[in-house]
Amino acid sequence: MNDHASISFWLETAGDDLSPRPPIDGTTDADVAILGAGMTGLWTAYYLLRRDPSLRVVIVERAIAGFGASGRNGAWCAPDLNISMSRLARLHGEDAARRMQQATYDAVDEVGRACSEAGIDAGFHKGGEIIVSRGPQGVPGLEDSIREYERFGFGDRYRLVDAAELEGRIRIAGVTRALVSEDAAVVHPGRLTRGLARVVERMGARIAEGTAVTGFRPKDASGRAALLTDRGDVRAPVVVLAGEAYLSELPQLHRQLVPLWSLIVLTEPVTDAQWAEIGWVNREVVASTRLSVDYLSRTEDGRILFGGRGAPYRLGSPIRREYDRHGPTHERLKRFVREWFPVLRDVRFTHEWGGPLGMPRDWHPTMAFDPATGIATSRGYVGHGVSTTNLAGRVLDDLIAGARTPLTELPLVNHRSRNWEIEPFRYLGVRYAQWALGRLDERTARTGMPPSGASLAERIASH
Ligand SMILES: Cc1cc2nc3c(=O)[nH]c(=O)nc-3n(C[C@H](O)[C@H](O)[C@H](O)COP(=O)(O)OP(=O)(O)OC[C@H]3O[C@@H](n4cnc5c(N)ncnc54)[C@H](O)[C@@H]3O)c2cc1C
Repeated sequence: MNDHASISFWLETAGDDLSPRPPIDGTTDADVAILGAGMTGLWTAYYLLRRDPSLRVVIVERAIAGFGASGRNGAWCAPDLNISMSRLARLHGEDAARRMQQATYDAVDEVGRACSEAGIDAGFHKGGEIIVSRGPQGVPGLEDSIREYERFGFGDRYRLVDAAELEGRIRIAGVTRALVSEDAAVVHPGRLTRGLARVVERMGARIAEGTAVTGFRPKDASGRAALLTDRGDVRAPVVVLAGEAYLSELPQLHRQLVPLWSLIVLTEPVTDAQWAEIGWVNREVVASTRLSVDYLSRTEDGRILFGGRGAPYRLGSPIRREYDRHGPTHERLKRFVREWFPVLRDVRFTHEWGGPLGMPRDWHPTMAFDPATGIATSRGYVGHGVSTTNLAGRVLDDLIAGARTPLTELPLVNHRSRNWEIEPFRYLGVRYAQWALGRLDERTARTGMPPSGASLAERIASH
C-alpha cells in the first residue's frame, strides 16, 4: 500500500494513483502560484481556469493532493460556518450575516453542481443534517439554534423533532430531541479532492508535489510575488496561500492559526440486520450538542464514521504525523459508537486517523486578496471547510479578477484575525479550554443540566 493511502480511509479508497507528481524543478514563472493542493487551492484553480483557460496556474504541494484535512475529514458538506450568525451580525451587521448564511447553503449545492459539471464522482448525496441532544442538557441549545435561524429568516429550513419522530430516520440511544434540516450533503472527500486535482490538471494547471514552501514574498519591483520553495521559487503576480492549519508553520503566519486535531474512527461495514435496527437510510450527517464536538456520517459502503476532538494542543503549535493518532481519544470515539448504537456493541473498527484543523484566534474565517502585495489567502474554517472551500474558490476568483460581485461583499472578505498569544500563554489558554469543555460535557451529561454559557471555557470558545 502506498504510504499516503494510510493517511485515511478516504485516500485509501479514492481509486486514484497516489504516487507524487513531479516536484518544482528550479525557478518557475506563472500567472497564479498556489500553496496547497487541498480543496481551497484546487477549487481556486478550478474557478480561475474556468474564467480564463489561458492562465498559467502552478500549485505547489509538499506531499500529495489531498494530504491535508481535505483528504481526511468527516465527509460533511454542510452549510453554516464555525462562527454564529449573531456574532457575524454584531461584527458586520444583520444583512451581512444573512447574506453570509445564504452563501453557505448555496455552497453546498455548488459543490454538487460543480462536481457533476466537472465529471467528479464525489459521492455527493444531499441527505440532510441531524443534531441530537442525548439527554435533556442539550435541548436549550437546540432551541437557541432554531430561534437564531428564525431571527435571520431561515427558520423554515429547520425542525425540532422529538425522540419518537427521530426514530423514523435514525435510532440513537438516549436522544431527547433533535434539530433536523435537509440542507447538508455527504461526500467522499478523497474522490472529491483527488478528482478535482485531475480536473484542474486537465484544465491546464500544473500540480507540483513533493515540494515544500518555506516562505512567501510580496510583489517586488518586477510586479511578481513568489512562493519560496526548497526546489526553486515560483514567481507570479498572484500568490494564493491555501495551506489551512499548516500555514502556521510559515514564520510569517505562525500566530495566525492554531493547529487543533480532529480525530476519526471508522467501523467495518455494518450488516443489513444492524442497519435495519439503526435506520439512517438517507445518510444524513449527524452530530450532537456536546461542546467538545462529535460528528458522524454513513459511508456509501455502509460503515459508520465517528469523529471528535480531544487530542491535546501542543506547546509551540508543532504539526507531526504521529499526532494523527491519539489513543485515548480514538478509544473514546469507539466507546461512543457503542453507546450511541447499542446494536454495534461487537462491531470492529477498521480505520482510525486524524488531522489538524486551522483555528484562528477569533474563530472567524478569512478570504482575502491584496492587489498591492499580490497575496491572496483563504483559511480559518476550523471544522467547516468542505463546502466553505468551494465558496473560497469562487470568492478568490472574483477578487483576483478584480470583479465586484455579491461574493466579494461577503463579511469574510478581507477579514483580519488577530494573532494568537505568544507561548506559553497560547498553550495555557487552549489546553485550559480543551480540558474545561470536556469536563463540562461530562458534568452536563451526568446532571442533565444545560451548560450556563457563562463559564470561562465557554467564553474562550464562544463563537
Ligand atoms: C479530521 C478532520 C475532520 C474534518 N471534518 C470536516 C467535515 O466533516 N466537514 C467539513 O466541512 N470540514 C471538516 N474538516 C475541515 C476541512 O476538512 C478543512 O477545513 C478543509 O479540508 C481545508 O481545506 P484546505 O485546502 O484549506 O486545507 P488542507 O486540506 O489542509 O490542504 C492544505 C494543503 O497544503 C499543503 N501544504 C501545507 N503547507 C505547505 C507548505 N509549506 N508547502 C507546500 N504545501 C503545503 C498540505 O500538504 C495540504 O495538502 C475536518 C478536518 C479534519 C482534520
